[in-house]
Amino acid sequence: MNIVLATRNRKKVEEMKRMFPGHKITFKTLDAFPGCPEVEEDGETFRANARKKALAVARYTGCPALADDSGLEVKALDMAPGVFSARYAGKNADDKKNVKKILREMRRVINRKERAARFVCCMVFALPDGKCRTFTGYVKGNIAEKPKGYNGFGYDPIFYPAGHERTFAEMEDFEKDALSHRGRAMKKLCTYLKSIL
Ligand code: IMP
Repeated sequence: MNIVLATRNRKKVEEMKRMFPGHKITFKTLDAFPGCPEVEEDGETFRANARKKALAVARYTGCPALADDSGLEVKALDMAPGVFSARYAGKNADDKKNVKKILREMRRVINRKERAARFVCCMVFALPDGKCRTFTGYVKGNIAEKPKGYNGFGYDPIFYPAGHERTFAEMEDFEKDALSHRGRAMKKLCTYLKSIL
């Protein structure tokens, strides 16, 4: 089965591809469909955004599509940045600016327990006829006081998964995959795909 990955985030594509070893699936990226329109992520939930992206790409390409919408929810910030994770620092946001903003907002939150956060990943698998399945994964942890490590992307350098003393950015890919929100959502998706293939 050919599945189009409905994202232009190269790091996400890498993570998704390496989590599917040995299955009868070929992944295509949006690079193969340069005319595919951009989808505005204006939903109020991760699910709404992932669903919108997956359906738009499945309809445009005529292939099954997989979209992921994900982000970080920080307890002390009333679960922000949430669906705004990618653009938390504003219009010209990038990973560095987003991380800086969170650390600035958290500077008075000293207690580790109060620095609780979680990553959420909502994956939607859509068919060109409009049928959809949703798979959600979470990982709990807390926000570091300063960035550590160089692997991964986004907020990885400031996220300690619960029970670990290294941030995601200090872990090897396989370690992050085994714990991460995306890994957990992927596991559910893999079980589903194996059941239909
Ligand atoms: P979107 O799902 O492309 O809208 O963006 C999700 C944003 O959430 C990314 O740009 C990152 O800032 C953040 N994010 C999602 N997953 C991860 C992850 O695995 N590690 C670090 N940051 C992540």
